[in-house]
Amino acid sequence: MNAIELETRYSAHNYAPLPVVLTRGQGAHLWDTAGRRYVDMMSAYSAASHGHVHPRILAALTAQAGRLAVPSRAYYNDRLGPFLGELCRLTGLDAAVPMNTGAEAVETAIKAARRWSYRVKGIAHGAAEIIVAEGNFHGRTTAVISFSTEPEYRDGFGPFTPGFRMVPFGDLAALERAITPQTAAVLVEPIQGEAGVIVPPQGWLAGLRRVCDAHRVLLILDEVQSGLGRTGAWFAFEHEGIRPDGVILGKALGGGVLPVSAFVARREVTDVFTPGSHGSTFGGNPLAAAVGLEALYMIREEGLVEKSRVLGAHMLERLHAMASPALKEVRGRGLWAGAEIDPALASAREACERLLEKGVLSKETHQTVVRLAPPLVIARADLDWALDRFEAVLHELGGTRGRARAA
Ligand code: PMP
Repeated sequence: MNAIELETRYSAHNYAPLPVVLTRGQGAHLWDTAGRRYVDMMSAYSAASHGHVHPRILAALTAQAGRLAVPSRAYYNDRLGPFLGELCRLTGLDAAVPMNTGAEAVETAIKAARRWSYRVKGIAHGAAEIIVAEGNFHGRTTAVISFSTEPEYRDGFGPFTPGFRMVPFGDLAALERAITPQTAAVLVEPIQGEAGVIVPPQGWLAGLRRVCDAHRVLLILDEVQSGLGRTGAWFAFEHEGIRPDGVILGKALGGGVLPVSAFVARREVTDVFTPGSHGSTFGGNPLAAAVGLEALYMIREEGLVEKSRVLGAHMLERLHAMASPALKEVRGRGLWAGAEIDPALASAREACERLLEKGVLSKETHQTVVRLAPPLVIARADLDWALDRFEAVLHELGGTRGRARAA
């Protein structure tokens, strides 16, 4: 059996991969088993923001792997403090809970918000509510899918966890109306990634900050995908000059080589955790901490935030200039764009398959959106090369079938 047959035979079918077998990566490039090179316009949903197998990350990984990897948090280790200290410095927050995957860090935030609401705000035990947004994506655990609005993520997985209230994304007035004396927190993505790179109206985040302050509600931002340079700022909340009470980070925090996540918050929030009340065997291990710290240093020292801002503006400008009937809308910020394909002409999946044939790796989200989010280290020439191919695909889709439809 070849690699695709083997994976299909032995893996659960919870993914529908594009038909390419990858074996090697470097920077913004990936190679398949036949030796063909691709430009990565996906960067593993932001997990590979640093590019693939960056020498700095690799050096940090191997040096620490040769020293100490997983002693557990039954003991202190000499790597965790420096890593969390840097996270607090960057976010302007006070303390962090290290975890592994994004979903675990979201679960951590939910537990922290609930306990804070009982012990600090004084909500009656068991009554806390967290306000979330329609179209959200915060992971795949049972509690997290309980407040998804995507039927596919929920179907057959109930009963669901109560305690969540839904409002439309980007609608400040609806959110304020949904606040009750039982509201512990608002938990949202600053830009919704999996929903199709949905950018909220200007001022919404700042408005959220005001409303949360007025009602003594925690503002918790899930920046698992938007954080660490993706939008052209260290954190998307900086675009509106606010600071959340807690921020959830993951993906790029692992430098593209390990799962590393964290919930970073004000001391008043993290202090609700007492020994034994929360934890993870692998969370905060020195290997993850060493890689995480190097990932943060690399973003700063290689100017990746600035790169994302400048190249991102270029990418969005080029995408907006692509006048094709197949392209209905372009949304995004920094090196992060969602291109909405007209479903009457093609599915986003078909667009991604055509991109693959031309040597560009992307992935659809939902039926209609092509995600364009290269590693932040991408060279301008590689970005332009990939965008040229995207334009050619649009031309194929809009040209042939567009005319057929009009006839
Ligand atoms: N939050 C957001 C905003 C995400 O985009 C994702 C993953 N796409 C997650 C949480 C979950 O992260 P993980 O898959 O590492 O659990």
